[in-house]
Amino acid sequence: MNVAGKIALGLAGSVGALAAVAAIRTATYEAPGAGVGTGAEVHLAAAPPVDLQRAASHLAEAVSFRTISHQDASENDAAEWDRFHAWLTDTYPAAHAVMSREIVAGNTLVYTWPGNDPTRNPIVLLAHHDVVPVTPGTEPDWKHPPFAGVVADDAVWGRGTVDNKGSLIGLFEAIEALAASGFEPGRTVIIVSGHDEEAGGAGAAAAAQLLKSRNVQAEFVLDEGLLVVADFPLLGRPVALIGIAEKGYGTLRITAPAKGGHSSTPPPQTGVEVLAKALLAITSNPFPMRFEGPAADMVRTLAPDAAPAVRMAVANEWLFEPLLVRQIAATPAGAASLHTTIAPTMLRGSPKENVLPQDAAGWINYRIAPGHSAERVLQHATDATRGLGVDVEWVQPPYDPSPVSSITSDGYRVLAAAASNGGQLPVAPGLVNATTDSRYFATIADDVYRFQPLVLSLREIEMVHGTNEHLTLDNLRRMIEFYSQVIATAAR
Ligand SMILES: [Zn+2]
Repeated sequence: MNVAGKIALGLAGSVGALAAVAAIRTATYEAPGAGVGTGAEVHLAAAPPVDLQRAASHLAEAVSFRTISHQDASENDAAEWDRFHAWLTDTYPAAHAVMSREIVAGNTLVYTWPGNDPTRNPIVLLAHHDVVPVTPGTEPDWKHPPFAGVVADDAVWGRGTVDNKGSLIGLFEAIEALAASGFEPGRTVIIVSGHDEEAGGAGAAAAAQLLKSRNVQAEFVLDEGLLVVADFPLLGRPVALIGIAEKGYGTLRITAPAKGGHSSTPPPQTGVEVLAKALLAITSNPFPMRFEGPAADMVRTLAPDAAPAVRMAVANEWLFEPLLVRQIAATPAGAASLHTTIAPTMLRGSPKENVLPQDAAGWINYRIAPGHSAERVLQHATDATRGLGVDVEWVQPPYDPSPVSSITSDGYRVLAAAASNGGQLPVAPGLVNATTDSRYFATIADDVYRFQPLVLSLREIEMVHGTNEHLTLDNLRRMIEFYSQVIATAAR
């Protein structure tokens, strides 16, 4: 046998051994904490009956209040918040009879439904009531005007139906029905409705601070974040994803100082060129993607239901990690879940084409993965641009990623049971790439979850902050029943 032959045989031998090990591990693979996190063992309390038409007209009315968080807060119409709050009080009398209301930071609502047993930790449920503006010029693209509050084609149409007035109305419909049915919570139930989630969430921050000052330690906190993805790529069928962490956030401004002057007599390189080099130096050195954290937990949890190849890869991460990373990174959302993302978004040069810039600046928006920190992001940018003479600084104080919440807690089990729709849907933990009001509540709870029981396809998710935002009546019913079951079960 020649040398090449020996090597080939040796390789075949090792591949054979690897395959045998991989096959055994695949056959014996169990999801982390298999049996836990499905909520199969949770006995859910029954939800009171839902009057869907009435709930739909309530949501339609809620949409008609223009509680719009503009980029420039001075454009906000404060009276709309007052009118909305008064409407909420009038519309849900039973809920307002059992809950006390406080207002913090101007317009954020904090409701308390006291439990019979003050020794048990409260549950805290969040749903903000501000909405993003409709992009000027896109109004004619809407099937129904975005603030008209139209119920048509088995859906409620308008800005905020999904993000996030739908959740708030779902919560109030649930509480109204529970209160009217005579339900009395054992645990205290706290509802926080932020007034400025789309503009930084100062209201939620103040609410969390208020609860902290009262030494509230919540059993769990629930906010928006993830949902039921109808066409989840890994399984090709609906999967309920419960967010157990969210990414951190920060924007760096990179400034290249320059002398300015007439562009007919430029220096060897203008500020714009220095800035371009600095931006490329940063973006060409991305943070490596890793199969770890909540995104990896998601795939591990779903692997037993996935195709044999996925199961095999997950059972043998030591061998297939690069393959798993490549698969998940095939979509931008998947890629984002595996590392800290770097997105240059804004640029500034000189004010005129024949004027040299006196300084040139670029803004880079970062979404920081769990396990990473803002400090490491700044270090990365500083190291990458060393020697270019640029300034690197945070535009506003950044914040680090949230802690990662438990997937075996009682709270997670109740949410998973209610989300699984009677065990019909696979449930998995996941990472929220965006930010929510819930990030402020890590100070009062170990377990902060982010989930709305809506079923949306990946395509439909684009309507959130986009055109033709609407909530189907099926989804509205799911939402009301989910919140009813969660409150009646977790706080019974
Ligand atoms: Zn939202």
